[in-house]
Amino acid sequence: MKCLILGGAGFIGSHLAQGLLAQGHEVRIFDRPNLMLPPELSSDPRIEWFEGDFLNQDDLAQVVPGSEVIFHLVSATLPKSSNDNPAYDVQSNVVGTLHLLELARLHGIRRVIFASSGGTVYGLPRSLPVSEAHATEPLVSYGITKLAIEKYLHMYRELYGIDYCVLRLANPFGERQRVSAAQGAVAVFLHRALHGEMIHIWGDGSVTRDYIYIKDAVGAFIKAMNSTGEQRVFNIGSGQGLSLNDILAAIEKLLGKPVARNYESARKFDVPVNVLDITRAREHLGWQPAVRFEDGLVNTLAWMQQNPHAQTQA
Ligand code: NAD
Repeated sequence: MKCLILGGAGFIGSHLAQGLLAQGHEVRIFDRPNLMLPPELSSDPRIEWFEGDFLNQDDLAQVVPGSEVIFHLVSATLPKSSNDNPAYDVQSNVVGTLHLLELARLHGIRRVIFASSGGTVYGLPRSLPVSEAHATEPLVSYGITKLAIEKYLHMYRELYGIDYCVLRLANPFGERQRVSAAQGAVAVFLHRALHGEMIHIWGDGSVTRDYIYIKDAVGAFIKAMNSTGEQRVFNIGSGQGLSLNDILAAIEKLLGKPVARNYESARKFDVPVNVLDITRAREHLGWQPAVRFEDGLVNTLAWMQQNPHAQTQA
């Protein structure tokens, strides 16, 4: 299949590119210009590279035609900062995606697979683990724009026949996750612990999240390419909750030394617990996570040690 990965030089996209190539698919990557690319990808002659801006329709028009499946992994915002400028969040992510969908309609794209957010679309969980049927009441703009995009995907399928699959990701972690842009605690904590730096924690460390190893997350994207059932929205996580203190304990065990930490005031938008119910993905995608958190942590540490500067580069 001819696969286009929008945001393919990023953390998830770069692993997805490798996963797709390993399965024999053709891979085209679209991402911003002048990025520091992972050597595994930049030197791979099988990848077609395109530089451009997702928000520029002319740039997108260079890459959409000729693709069969589009993986939409671009996000112009992060959960923690999206409330600073919700109008920008809408203008960039929602409007940008609408331009993409118009092009997809024009060029007969078969399917769009979208990286949504299981950590933000539900808001404060009323029951745990959180299933896809749970109410969606995000506390951050990022979650609202992810939901809006999900709804537009549905509309474009109903009206124009572009199939789609939404993966509501938990907190992926693993090799190549950048500390500077990290959405999860694992990369930041591990990097700081490795360098003997203080780890700052908002709250008392009890905030609990669902962490999924990157290669398991990629497995779900690949399954989503060919899913044929009625379900189109899937939680993708480990189904297990780990607190920030649990992560610190696992890092201390792995490094064999205590790590310095500093507990600060909790942030209002951090829901206390979010753990995803992944039953639907198990049953309908035939997917399930295979890598234990501790093993994923070992791989992440090994990568950080081999690439001491990579994770802080833009
Ligand atoms: P990332 O920042 O590593 O990758 C995103 C890529 O998109 C980057 O390479 C970036 O250069 C590119 N990009 C951003 N704006 C662009 C633009 N205007 N034009 C062209 N390219 C642009 O992020 P990631 O962790 O790989 O996340 C990928 C997707 O998954 C995002 O949509 C994100 O919201 C979603 N997601 C991530 C997490 C997480 O914890 N990492 C959790 C849930 C959902």
